[in-house]
Amino acid sequence: MPKDAPQLGCADSPILKERGQHEVFCGLTSIVWLHRKMQDAFFLVVGSRTCAHLLQSAAGVMIFAEPRFATAILEETDLAGMADAHEELDRNVSQLLSRRPDIKRLFLVGSCPSEVIKIDLSTVAEKLTEKYSPNVNVINFSGSGIETTFTQGEDACLEAVIRSLPSSEKTQLAVLGALPDIVQDQMMRLLEQLGLENVFVLPQVKFDDDVSIGANTHFICVQPFLGASYEEMVRRGAQPICANFPFGADGTTRWLWAIAERFDVSKAKFDKVVAAPKLRAEQAIAAVASDLRGKSVFFFPDSQLEIPLARFLAAECGMELTEVGSPFIHKSLVYADLADLPATTQISEGQDVDKQLDRVFDYNPDLTVCGLGLANPLESKGLSTKWAIELVFSPIHFYEQAADLASLFARPLKRADLLKVST
Ligand code: SF4
Repeated sequence: MPKDAPQLGCADSPILKERGQHEVFCGLTSIVWLHRKMQDAFFLVVGSRTCAHLLQSAAGVMIFAEPRFATAILEETDLAGMADAHEELDRNVSQLLSRRPDIKRLFLVGSCPSEVIKIDLSTVAEKLTEKYSPNVNVINFSGSGIETTFTQGEDACLEAVIRSLPSSEKTQLAVLGALPDIVQDQMMRLLEQLGLENVFVLPQVKFDDDVSIGANTHFICVQPFLGASYEEMVRRGAQPICANFPFGADGTTRWLWAIAERFDVSKAKFDKVVAAPKLRAEQAIAAVASDLRGKSVFFFPDSQLEIPLARFLAAECGMELTEVGSPFIHKSLVYADLADLPATTQISEGQDVDKQLDRVFDYNPDLTVCGLGLANPLESKGLSTKWAIELVFSPIHFYEQAADLASLFARPLKRADLLKVST
């Protein structure tokens, strides 16, 4: 090891746990990408106008494309009598299903208002499943801001999906997490080249897809925010495979190797399959990393992607980590990435935004990764920022996207340099 290489290992470092005012999305936002992934599903949020407005602004132009989500808005009369709310919901669902016969899975998504007034959506979902079975399966999960932060909405949805899956003893690999189609295809190709059979992805694209789980199901997460889904899989008897997350050349290789080891793929075969794409990724990252090397970065908590992304930036792009904040840290899932962070990194969980802002000004990092609400105010104070939401919506996993991932961080730094020169 070179003398100046940072000492690695944050797996057992103390985590700064904070509770206070936080600036994050609620879990409803995950509907924006989930509805595109699950082609026969419809997401009906039971909430207020605030929830409807949030979805509209998060979905942006997508709202003009007849999306498969909507909000059943709770009116004052619903708040006065719960019986009315149930009847109203029943009526809404029946109207919706008669208009959209393509819907096979209906998700009733809980929100802060539906939770505060205690509408029992899981019982409603059970009753509706009985009523519309076998044509439509009705599932409930919560995306409320009281219970979930941003990507945790996908976790809550997937956990509910897993709970409803049939059992099987088949030996198979399940990959957990929604990915853009093109990235998922690349992943499936690599797994196929490794000789793996019986591989499926959750959430499944169509309700009719043949997926089941049991004691011979091995599973691995492709996203670090799937703690509840991970635990539900374990409860169902499935066996976890834990590894670094597939960001960058090295992260992807380690993720694939963990699977290969579990399924007894030889090292020689593995090396042969990954050699070319790995080299391509390393070269592509090197071309971008020159703009990142030696620059410091600070992560505000947003999506739980922070720890694996920080590992990628430090280990593969030569960035220096100051603080890495995550809204929630599921240690069994991110252990490998935590263990690979430089020991000097401050890890924080949760948020007290004012205190965190004081810290970011003290560090004065070259790059700050944060939400939309903080980005412009921080830019006006002279910090270069990267909007964290883009990391959730852009294809960033696996070899072919590795350089694009590095570019997402390099771009704001370059822009700041250009603006400095031109003023
Ligand atoms: S679920 Fe809660 S946090 Fe999310 S938009 Fe509705 S009221 Fe706001």
